[in-house]
Amino acid sequence: MKPEELLQQLQQAPDFLKLTLAHPDFLPFASYQLENGTDIQIWDTGVIYCQPKQFGQQDIVLSSGVHGNETAPVELCSELLNKVLAGKLLLTERVLFLFGNPPAMNAGVREIQDNLNRLFSGHHSKEPGVQSAERERAKKLESYVLKFFDEAPQGLRERKLYDLHTAIRGSRFEKFVVYPFLHGKNWSKNQFEFLKACGANTVLLMQTPASTFSYFAAQSCKAHGFTIELGKARPFGQNDMSRFADAAAAFRALISGGELATTEFNEADFNLYEVRRSIDKTTEAFKLHFADNIENFTTFDLGTVLASDQGVEYRVEVEGEAIIFPNPKVAVGQRAMLMVKPVSVTGKVS
Ligand SMILES: [Zn+2]
Repeated sequence: MKPEELLQQLQQAPDFLKLTLAHPDFLPFASYQLENGTDIQIWDTGVIYCQPKQFGQQDIVLSSGVHGNETAPVELCSELLNKVLAGKLLLTERVLFLFGNPPAMNAGVREIQDNLNRLFSGHHSKEPGVQSAERERAKKLESYVLKFFDEAPQGLRERKLYDLHTAIRGSRFEKFVVYPFLHGKNWSKNQFEFLKACGANTVLLMQTPASTFSYFAAQSCKAHGFTIELGKARPFGQNDMSRFADAAAAFRALISGGELATTEFNEADFNLYEVRRSIDKTTEAFKLHFADNIENFTTFDLGTVLASDQGVEYRVEVEGEAIIFPNPKVAVGQRAMLMVKPVSVTGKVS
């Protein structure tokens, strides 16, 4: 597709997601200006940069579809973006919209070959000779995000990246956030307040580096980065968008200077967890000992066998230990489940 053709189609029907899904592997660079003065630049398939004529001090990345079958956030972001493109929503900040994995979105699957959200911070290139579309994409997404932040004007600015997901299984707390490891720095009070306005007051505070997009944003870009799980994954068109109304309103307000429904941070309003241990699948014999429909953040009695692998059993070791992200289908050597426990952030938030 030629850039002129792309622009013509986008101006006729301002639906960038549709164009992305029609051209999941590539879109050429193209740029134009909306009547309200907003500069629009297409950087790649699923990657579009919007810069209003006048903008504030935040640089905001809204990412969705890093897992192709997690459609609700894709629909949420697409709706916001289409309003911008149609001139119905005037941005007050620079915004980069990313649709992570278009081929997987088309196929209705989490990934084609590799879990894209395990490939950031250079993990895309850690195994020489191993190639996949997702490895290529992770490398490109990193470069687009770096370019976006690097090209911001000089001065005191706030960098943000919200990577929106939905979980494979249900959750005791429908919406929850993974707050990447900050290497001992304080957690952000303002960001807790924003997350609560999104309807996500359950936060998992990580204590180790990760290969996720949000950790890359936090560590390599010095941004406020988050993985936000908005609910359970469902196919396109089958999401009850009313369940995401708070998040949609919060993101809309964030990028367009609207009033945010925030309240002052109070730890009692949150369910805060930290990771106690990570359970990896070490052989093909790995098995979970609870039903598929057991929700994230479920707790079990002390001593309950949760999983087993070749010659080893994993039991509940402390009171209040809860499961999260159990997935026995991961490749051997990968994380099959996290065990978390409640934690306080008193003295560690500012
Ligand atoms: Zn996901």
